[in-house]
Amino acid sequence: QAPKKLPDIDASKLTVTRTQTPKEMLKPEELVFGRTFSDHMLSIEWTAQSGWATPQITPYQNLSLDPATCVFHYAFECFEGMKAYYDTQGRVRLFRPDRNMARLNTSSARIALPTFNAEEMIKCISAFVAVDQKFVPKKKGYSLYLRPTMIGTQRTLGVGPPGSALLYVIASPVGPYYPTGFKAVSLEATSQYIRAWPGGVGNMKLGANYAPCIVPQLEAAGRGFHQNLWLFGEEGYVTEVGTMNLFVAWTLPSGEKELVTAPLDGTILEGVTRDCVLALAREKLVKEGWTISERKYTIKEVSQAADEGRLIEAFGSGTAAVVSPIRRIAWDGGVAGTPRDIMFPLQEGKEAGVIAERMWKWMEERQYGEVESEWSHIV
Ligand code: PMP
Repeated sequence: QAPKKLPDIDASKLTVTRTQTPKEMLKPEELVFGRTFSDHMLSIEWTAQSGWATPQITPYQNLSLDPATCVFHYAFECFEGMKAYYDTQGRVRLFRPDRNMARLNTSSARIALPTFNAEEMIKCISAFVAVDQKFVPKKKGYSLYLRPTMIGTQRTLGVGPPGSALLYVIASPVGPYYPTGFKAVSLEATSQYIRAWPGGVGNMKLGANYAPCIVPQLEAAGRGFHQNLWLFGEEGYVTEVGTMNLFVAWTLPSGEKELVTAPLDGTILEGVTRDCVLALAREKLVKEGWTISERKYTIKEVSQAADEGRLIEAFGSGTAAVVSPIRRIAWDGGVAGTPRDIMFPLQEGKEAGVIAERMWKWMEERQYGEVESEWSHIV
């Protein structure tokens, strides 16, 4: 006998209970990332016996969970970060929500939480954003940050697959990461702490990947750096930055101009912005003579390129900042090496290189619907 197919998420069943105490939207200038939330939330419960229950939009509220709930003990939690934007015609758009939902399903499956129908979930998120539309700031550079989250909710200290889960989405209006224009950041190449390793879960967006990075981040900050640059292995492979993927533009010893980023080998988060940067670079930069590569490269190669005057620019990519130009990487020089500063040449008075500037513009044009793109999803 075939196992009974349990109900998946069904957006047509979505219920909406509106808040009786609507909040005032803060002035765009007053927004602090992740501090204020919209009036409502989207929640969908799951149990192993009954599958996905009816999606609900309710007033934003506390969760009530037993202290023995498995999320508190064994970190059954994964999440996403995505944004909704007001376009020039007054419509709200999500940016590549299919990618975020696919990644959430991958993360969820890896920690024995349930998967779901991504298309139906995008419909539910669209309905949620429409209900809280007034929280999408109507100003270029601003957006409504969405935080889809899945947690295991079974009340048990037994270590095993959760028999129940909650998928919810909250929303926080956010301002531009660089309100007064780009500010190039300094990184500390970190090898004493390892963020991710082959066969691990560094490519999943699990809460458990983030808490252990705070102490290294604080230590780097104490030495004057904005973020850690995570290295891997004795070779010193460059993986990614704090919460961004990394791109380096340089001239290879052969004379070829290359834009390089680490490959999706399981040790980096598979960034949605990374994927966009690669696609845009392949569309626009190849014809200008650039080679676009996803391959392993080492901090030693970056350092050597600096010595030989071959570095052009570097930038991080991620949903929060979109593109974050890099000025400097401090590196201890590796085994028996001498510490050194790797400097990226920025033009006098400039905080970003030409590729980072253009990439940011190409991304924004698509996020705000100024350039039509299949990445943009009208709510
Ligand atoms: N790496 C890590 C570790 C991250 O947390 C993020 C942010 N989600 C990224 C890279 C960038 O991913 P995305 O472009 O999907 O935001």
